[in-house]
Amino acid sequence: MTLEPGLVQRFAAIVGARHALTRAEDMHPYLAEPRGLFAGRAGLVLLPASTAQVSAILALASETRTAIVPQGGNTGLVGGQIPDGSGQQVVVCLRRMNRIREIDPASNTVTAEAGVVLQDLQAAAEAAGRLFPLALASQGSCQIGGNLSSNAGGTEVLAYGNARDLCLGLEVVLPDGRVLDDLRKLRKDNTGYDLRGLFIGAEGTLGIITAAVLRLFPLPAGRVVAWLGCASPQAALELYHRAAEKAGPALTAFELMNDTVLSFSLRHGSEKQPPLAGHHPWHVLMEYRSHESDAHARSALEEMLATFLEAGLLDDAAISQDVRQLRAFWALRENMSESQKHEGASLKHDISVPVARIPALIEATGRAVRRLEPAARIACFGHMGDGNLHYNISQPEGGDGRQFSERRHEFHRAVHDVVATMGGSFSAEHGIGQMKREELARTASPVSLELMSAIKRAFDPLGIMNPGKVLDVSTRR
Ligand SMILES: Cc1cc2nc3c(=O)[nH]c(=O)nc-3n(C[C@H](O)[C@H](O)[C@H](O)COP(=O)(O)OP(=O)(O)OC[C@H]3O[C@@H](n4cnc5c(N)ncnc54)[C@H](O)[C@@H]3O)c2cc1C
Repeated sequence: MTLEPGLVQRFAAIVGARHALTRAEDMHPYLAEPRGLFAGRAGLVLLPASTAQVSAILALASETRTAIVPQGGNTGLVGGQIPDGSGQQVVVCLRRMNRIREIDPASNTVTAEAGVVLQDLQAAAEAAGRLFPLALASQGSCQIGGNLSSNAGGTEVLAYGNARDLCLGLEVVLPDGRVLDDLRKLRKDNTGYDLRGLFIGAEGTLGIITAAVLRLFPLPAGRVVAWLGCASPQAALELYHRAAEKAGPALTAFELMNDTVLSFSLRHGSEKQPPLAGHHPWHVLMEYRSHESDAHARSALEEMLATFLEAGLLDDAAISQDVRQLRAFWALRENMSESQKHEGASLKHDISVPVARIPALIEATGRAVRRLEPAARIACFGHMGDGNLHYNISQPEGGDGRQFSERRHEFHRAVHDVVATMGGSFSAEHGIGQMKREELARTASPVSLELMSAIKRAFDPLGIMNPGKVLDVSTRR
């Protein structure tokens, strides 16, 4: 079944025929995500160029009760940006809305359209002598609208917060076509409910974000990273606390990884050089920034690590000597997710707990996983300073990947149940989308589910905004 031709024409007239894709080969890149986990069909893919066009699209969608799936760079990991299999939904991709409307260095803000690619925004900020600190491995493709809609995290959250913390104002088109213009640059504004906050992290289920005002920061003059080898997650936690105390806001990243996932990255990624000689069961990548110079950052970090070595808190350490080495250390960390693909089937968990519970979490999940499959390979890495781990499990070496994947629900449940006992979250960064909708329904309290459903109905009474994502609410009338 496809969309009725008359309706296709009405939608196409809004954006112009060239920007309304109907042929299978043209629509294909918008209907599946790169890992191949989620694929769907659509009646049409629309590429609007302005807020007015998005408004007209949603007004028509409301009139005709057509389901809309907003899409940014299509890098989401939970299938939120992919239509269902009906062929009746319309994908609205914001990529043509890629204008930076204003950079205001005096107010430390940038006003950008939703389709601006994150990396382009970082570059524009830098050209204006400012830092836009959101940083993800997908930054060459993901877009500001997608970042806000998924409340993206990444490697700089420790120092600057996640996408929500970086957003001061939003322009959003509501499901009935009305435009909420809240593009303000205010750090302080306590005038009623936080409407902006509702759209951030809503994964396109409440409206389409068309533009945002984002915060900028001074550019750091110096950056240095250190690679540390340590004995256990408990030792890494101790290191984290000492480093945070000593460095304060100069500590901008604290990433933890086990030896298994480092070996995957070294084997399959672009960086082949282990940062440390010797074997270490756990590793930390730590970044230190200075507003003076690289040399200042390096000497402060060296002094700090020397005291940690003396206190026996770490086994070995290497400090980046130049930009090339800094990038090489980060590349080892950033290649971890990708390199797991080459080790066969893997089951992924994006979990968070209060930072003090990270060692207990790793211990308890390790036990739970080994009970299910003693030969499973645990690839544990993530943003320890944020209490967030990517706790992935690769199939046993030489085992049957399909059989392993078929057991995913057992593993997910085992890991998520441990997380729940520690007051944690089963989706720290990546959202719910279609992948984790049932897990949300299983684990969220009835009161929070009722409130979320009420919000959904209030904003989208016809249920046309990204149906089937996040919540299972039947709101169609
Ligand atoms: C290699 C890799 C590394 C990653 N690393 C991280 C990481 O460190 N931290 C992290 O948080 N995520 C990470 N991600 C996930 C992903 O990149 C982020 O979630 C990103 O913010 C999604 O942006 P996007 O433009 O690709 O959005 P899409 O994937 O296109 O969409 C994501 C969701 O937002 C909705 N949406 C998109 N645009 C709009 C809009 N304008 N208005 C309303 N709704 C919209 C979609 O419907 C969907 O539900 C990673 C992904 C990859 C592939």
